Amino acid sequence: MDFLNGEIVGLAGEQGGAAPINRRIVELDTQASLAPRNGSAAGLIEALLEVVDKPGGVFIVEDESDLPAADDGVWTFAELQVLAQEHVGIEESNGEISLHTMWLGGEYENPNVLGVAWGNRHLAMFGERIDRACNGLLIGALTCSLAEATIWTHEVGHVIGLVDRGTPMVNDHKDPEHPAHDVSRESVMYWAYDGTDFTELIGALTGNSVIPWGAECERDLEAVRNGN
Ligand SMILES: [Zn+2]
Repeated sequence: MDFLNGEIVGLAGEQGGAAPINRRIVELDTQASLAPRNGSAAGLIEALLEVVDKPGGVFIVEDESDLPAADDGVWTFAELQVLAQEHVGIEESNGEISLHTMWLGGEYENPNVLGVAWGNRHLAMFGERIDRACNGLLIGALTCSLAEATIWTHEVGHVIGLVDRGTPMVNDHKDPEHPAHDVSRESVMYWAYDGTDFTELIGALTGNSVIPWGAECERDLEAVRNGN
């Protein structure tokens, strides 16, 4: 991993003197020996900088690195909620908004889901399960890192209220079959990109960056930035 315990990485944007901090913090807690791949944190930061109004920057702060394993290797949603309450550690201060990511072994109660988000604050990423999905398809490290960053970005998208879950829609683009998701496959908020259909996610990855937010999600987030 390319960042150290407790250190802030991903500095972007200017931090001017006594101005309000106005930055977004992604608190990262990991299970022992698990961590995001090199490059996936950078992919998330790049995606967030495109849409959030945080002139102080977007930071990932590694906090705890000894989260417990699931008793039986399977995380239920109720267990994740308890874990999150026990380990969320970063206080939000003036101008700061923080998201809480937990990087876990084992798998979710629906093993096809590789990341899950809730409560406009928390998200869990199933790192070991992502490894297995990547190895099963024998895809390269670069593509795997991009897939991981895409899933992480998708979950952060849920936390920031996409689609129509706190961030109002300018135009209707929510998927009636999959609430909180974008109807368009061109958007990172398409339902399959939480890993539910990993093959589809890999198929959608082209080029060297995370799947874009898509026109409608960008429009919604722009309206929030402009205070509309
Ligand atoms: Zn989703």
